[in-house]
Amino acid sequence: MNTVQRSSAEKIFLWFYFPSITLMYLVYKYPTLFMEEQNIQQNLYWLGKSPSFWYGLVYSLIICSVCIKVLVKKQNPYTVGDRQSDISSYQQKKWTSILLSQSIVFFFIPFIMPWLIGDTGFWQDTYKPVGKDAYVYVYNGFTSMSGFLYLFILVPVSVWFFGKRYCSWFCACGNLAEAVGATPWGKNWVQRYTPRGQRAVKLEMIQIMLLGFALIFGLVLFLDSWKMITAPDLVSALWGFQHLVVDLMFGALIGVGAYPILGTRIWCRYGCPLAGMMKLFGTYSKSRAIIVADDKCKGIGHCSVVCPMGIDVESFAHKSRVPLHGDYGLSKTPCISCGSCVATCPAGALKFEKIIFPKATSLESKS
Ligand code: SF4
Ligand code: SF4
Ligand code: SF4
Repeated sequence: MNTVQRSSAEKIFLWFYFPSITLMYLVYKYPTLFMEEQNIQQNLYWLGKSPSFWYGLVYSLIICSVCIKVLVKKQNPYTVGDRQSDISSYQQKKWTSILLSQSIVFFFIPFIMPWLIGDTGFWQDTYKPVGKDAYVYVYNGFTSMSGFLYLFILVPVSVWFFGKRYCSWFCACGNLAEAVGATPWGKNWVQRYTPRGQRAVKLEMIQIMLLGFALIFGLVLFLDSWKMITAPDLVSALWGFQHLVVDLMFGALIGVGAYPILGTRIWCRYGCPLAGMMKLFGTYSKSRAIIVADDKCKGIGHCSVVCPMGIDVESFAHKSRVPLHGDYGLSKTPCISCGSCVATCPAGALKFEKIIFPKATSLESKS
């Protein structure tokens, strides 16, 4: 085993982490469990700013500080054991993209821009019920034209060219997973606790079920908004399931709370409906984003150890240490093109295939 045991400091951290993350998300999602609605603004709007602002600020600071550290140190964050190497240009671009998307798209635009163009003071947020629902839940594609264009046009086109690179370069949830996975503890959580193997592949069925739910839910909301059905009980039951099971229990408590025991991409591999949709697009459109393995592979297996999605990368690269010249990507796996496997391979046996004008030979799998 190339990974390290938890230190005492980490164990102490975990004793506080689990209860605090559960309490934080419960208060954030269901504040009326803890106080009357009319007291929410007084109790939860610290310095006049909404809980969403503080959540977004802490979330973005964690991500941006890791990005800056990686970019300044210029060291490859994906190594097994004590081995060190320089960061690749792919990883530099990826970490720059994470830094820019998180600071501009997910913080500046939603939290600073409204104040710049509005006429209320910065420390005077108006009260709004909190909502953590995000576009990754897919049903938004049925409730607005911008959601439809984004989820059903833009995302599939990007998947065809870039695979699920969206998940490792841009998505706010993925940004946190990437950032935590590049810290010393997070790296160990990924390498030691990410579920792998055939059982992991079977568990992907959960994601297909959540995608099915998201599509049915979206359709019901669409029909309801156009008065084609009137079933308020059904709509409210579906909202209840979405809030409690999908958003709170899976998206937050397991998706973020379980980082230390299941790795950083548990939600991304088994929960996120958008990822399920991207995987379907990628499989049937034969996404052009693939990674190829050449005959330099020595069967060391570090590629599988560092994969945050728990993909058995080495099975595409060698069999009993004999190189396979294999390739893999979204059409065969839930790969998010994070590049950890490429960056960690000590033999330099893996590389991303060119998206434009790929080499024909590298697409042949001799396995
Ligand atoms: S799998 Fe979903 S939540 Fe995870 S990074 Fe991709 S889109 Fe975001
Ligand atoms: S691709 Fe690289 S890391 Fe993976 S098994 Fe081969 S030599 Fe090892
Ligand atoms: S297979 Fe490689 S690029 Fe794909 S998710 Fe795993 S580590 Fe990242």
